[in-house]
Amino acid sequence: MKGTVLYGPGDIRFEDREDPKIIEPTDAVLRLAATCVCGSDLWPYRGIEKIKGPTPMGHEYCGFVEEVGSAVKSIKPGQFVVGSFATSDNTCAHCRYGYQSSCVHREFMLRAQAPFLRVPQADGTLVPTPGGAPSDGLIPSLLACSDVLGTGWFAADAANVKPGSTAVVVGDGAVGLLGVLSAKQMGAERIIAMSRHESRQKLAREFGATDIVAERGEEAVARIKDLTKGIGADSVLECVGTKESMMQAIGATRPGGYVGYVGVPHGVEFKGEELFYRHVHLHGGPAPVRRYLPKLIDLVLNGTINPGKVFDLTLPLEQVAEGYRAMDERRAIKALLRP
Ligand SMILES: [Zn+2]
Repeated sequence: MKGTVLYGPGDIRFEDREDPKIIEPTDAVLRLAATCVCGSDLWPYRGIEKIKGPTPMGHEYCGFVEEVGSAVKSIKPGQFVVGSFATSDNTCAHCRYGYQSSCVHREFMLRAQAPFLRVPQADGTLVPTPGGAPSDGLIPSLLACSDVLGTGWFAADAANVKPGSTAVVVGDGAVGLLGVLSAKQMGAERIIAMSRHESRQKLAREFGATDIVAERGEEAVARIKDLTKGIGADSVLECVGTKESMMQAIGATRPGGYVGYVGVPHGVEFKGEELFYRHVHLHGGPAPVRRYLPKLIDLVLNGTINPGKVFDLTLPLEQVAEGYRAMDERRAIKALLRP
């Protein structure tokens, strides 16, 4: 088969690779219905995150089970499944506490921008869609559950969004936009989305944003204070990962409020004393998507949410390099790839 490999900054190739096969008895091999390019793929694509050599790419996936290893019990060939970007046995202590992305058997998925994919810990990682294969129109939304929605949901959950909360979302990438959707589902009364791009502002409003703030940095914090009678927000979802976005998130939170941070930090540093006097809860990390998957799949299947709207570009998988370019240049929010 052919798969996606990053060779260096801006250098994405779709090239011949070995077909995935069962290696461990707990593995499954999937034939993917769809995959996509993640905002986090842009860190190495832009050369901000160094790679050691040619690196297979992709960690978001859904599709049909082709084959399972001898120790796999609940996952069966023919099922349509969605899995997390982090593998988990779903049985260890961390998994039972709901932190499957810290599982003792965690591996971060790679190689999903390909037609076939090996998934370790199949029983713990994959969730079959109830009622068999979904209609084709639902596939983008199911794919979104694999990472981008699950991550936005975790940001809202970690930021303690409750019915009646005021939530701020920092970042108008796909995760931020789905953070808006998640905060809405959790009952936030007011949702302030930070965005400067018209198409993204529009989608944010569609997902439930009540206010848009286009300012950044100190000005953004001042604007949020204005909008919240000088108090600050109960919950702030940090969905970027830069020092500026993190300080903006902390600055926009009221004393006693919560920051849920899911942007992979790049160059973020804190002064202990500064943090001490802020009085904010910080909770974040790689989202335990597996914890939320059954619920998110249900919300998609019963038509409550349509997170697949973040895919504003669909390409055949072999044009994956164009998907990266479009996202890098912010011509696309998120690129869906069809094998
Ligand atoms: Zn575990």
